[in-house]
Amino acid sequence: MVDPRLGELELVVDEEELWHEDDAGDHAGWSCVRTDPFPCPAEGCEFVADFMTAAHLILVWEERDDPNLLRHAERAKRVGRNPRIVEYEPSFGPSASYYAWEASGRPVHAVRPE
Ligand SMILES: [Zn+2]
Repeated sequence: MVDPRLGELELVVDEEELWHEDDAGDHAGWSCVRTDPFPCPAEGCEFVADFMTAAHLILVWEERDDPNLLRHAERAKRVGRNPRIVEYEPSFGPSASYYAWEASGRPVHAVRPE
């Protein structure tokens, strides 16, 4: 869908088109990274994340000491997002396994060139 306010060259990805993990199992007990509120980088999107997310899904890791998890937390710390590694609970919101996300080409909610 082209948003006329953005001109012809930019494309807004609709909410329904956001990526979902195909086999989103129960990630309770996995680890995720809680952060200070962080608005979605997509232009015009009102979503504000309280966790490290991708395409509005909370990224979860099976192991609390996964090097990838630690690396992402370290990066969030450097940009002042105050990350805390916590145990994921389904009440936090929809989740996606980090590795499933990575395998899907790291989709995010963003305004993309056509
Ligand atoms: Zn968004």
